[in-house]
Amino acid sequence: MRGVQLHAGTQRIARLHTGWIASHYAFILLLEQSETERILLGRLHELGVVVERPVTLTALEATPAGAVAHLHHADGALEPLAVPWVVGCDGAHSTVRHALGLPFAGQRYGEAFALADVELEGVFPGMADQLNLFLSPAGLAFLAPLAGGRHRIILDEPPGSADEDRPPPTADELQRRWRAHVAVPGARDLTIAHTHWSSRFTIHRRIVPALRHTRVLLAGDAAHVHSPAGAQGMNGGIQDAVNLGWKLALVVRGQATEPLLDSYDAERLPVERAILRATDLVTRGATLRHPVAQWLRAGMLRQALATPLAQRLLPNLLAGIAISYRGSPLAVDEERRRPGAPGVAAGDRAPDVTLRSPGPRRLYDRLNHPGFTLLIFAGVHPTVEDLTRAGWIAREVAARATGIIKSVVVAGDSSGGRTASGWDTALSDLGGVVHVRYGVRQGLCLIRPDRAIGIVVPRLDVAPLWVYLESCLHMGLSAGWAEKEHSA
Ligand SMILES: Cc1cc2nc3c(=O)[nH]c(=O)nc-3n(C[C@H](O)[C@H](O)[C@H](O)COP(=O)(O)OP(=O)(O)OC[C@H]3O[C@@H](n4cnc5c(N)ncnc54)[C@H](O)[C@@H]3O)c2cc1C
Repeated sequence: MRGVQLHAGTQRIARLHTGWIASHYAFILLLEQSETERILLGRLHELGVVVERPVTLTALEATPAGAVAHLHHADGALEPLAVPWVVGCDGAHSTVRHALGLPFAGQRYGEAFALADVELEGVFPGMADQLNLFLSPAGLAFLAPLAGGRHRIILDEPPGSADEDRPPPTADELQRRWRAHVAVPGARDLTIAHTHWSSRFTIHRRIVPALRHTRVLLAGDAAHVHSPAGAQGMNGGIQDAVNLGWKLALVVRGQATEPLLDSYDAERLPVERAILRATDLVTRGATLRHPVAQWLRAGMLRQALATPLAQRLLPNLLAGIAISYRGSPLAVDEERRRPGAPGVAAGDRAPDVTLRSPGPRRLYDRLNHPGFTLLIFAGVHPTVEDLTRAGWIAREVAARATGIIKSVVVAGDSSGGRTASGWDTALSDLGGVVHVRYGVRQGLCLIRPDRAIGIVVPRLDVAPLWVYLESCLHMGLSAGWAEKEHSA
């Protein structure tokens, strides 16, 4: 899908374009959860990870050295398994969270929602390639295309309906609610020809007070749940996992010490709290019933969503691209940035850049490995001394952080091919596009394995990098790194 259309009453009041998303994948992809799981399981299989199913965790005892997980196997066998680390990714009803006795503070919303995958008769502009939201005095309706000509519809039910335990909605009920909730000509007349699947769901807004409990950690819905407004639940859970994965790997391999894991809470909890606040606001706004409040809402949304800032920022926020860990203990800018200055700050997601040089088209193709990447910016018009200095840093990093950090020397086109012939990891920055996008004239930029920027050094000086690795990432600086990784 290429955009979102928002309608209030009989009119379209706003349109958001996914083309503003600063990603190679600037579109909305709606997949059934079973399909998402099939893709993720396939990738795990490629990486040699076996997911054992069905195995149920029935109880967990946390110990200072890890935990004992009590497992129930399909054949009825019970297995107590002592493990050094546990990551509870076991959903909203998490056994791990219950075993830790953690509060899951929050509330349930008063409305239930009807959800169905249907085949529709009739035509409405944008029904094939846009996500459509309809607001009306009767309630909220959602319409999005699925593969195979199907559509997913979601319709809210009256306040208080969340308490009721009712069977899935029938085609008649869905059609009746659709006609009541949708006033836009054309869309209102769509007919539900066939219902493939339907259900009801209620939504909660809840979060744990901390993600790390010594050697037991929580991620995804086990740690936070919120309204699906904005479609950020699964993406947030995956971002938890990506944030935690590399940190845990370094600690397990003995390449960093446990305090590194405290940054998991420091970085992810503020992001998830902000998502909870934003989705709460949107959900309350979208389910307003009073006619005056609805009229005010339509006017405010029409104005606010038409501004260039909202047009650019909202799609990036919803896509998770604009999420930043600025202010985290792992985000270090060696020079104070002016607010609003162009370029990147430590903590930001490292931007991808379309390259003008021959070879790989995207900067991300150069980052496609599991470790850290150090971008060494030699300058758009580097001198021989600049290139020599950049090359020396690359060699120094290769010597001291083998297997951990890959250096890429980024040098402007006036270097006349010297970079390309000097090091195998050189990037010829034709037109200086990477320098400009990163806002670095000369210096270093360390990109973490989760593609967040760790440290920005605005000069060709490697000393701050070593301090950063030791004091922020809690990594020991020794030639032993490579051996430890090899033996892990
Ligand atoms: C209507 C609706 C629409 C949504 N739309 C979107 C969207 O568009 N985009 C988006 O990003 N998110 C969306 N979400 C949110 C998204 O579905 C969830 O955030 C996501 O599925 C959470 O993933 P998870 O892996 O943390 O938990 P789950 O998907 O709940 O997975 C938990 C896993 O743990 C297993 N498990 C649980 N307990 C145990 C146990 N004791 N022993 C062993 N295994 C166990 C379960 O079997 C399951 O496999 C939506 C949610 C809803 C309700």
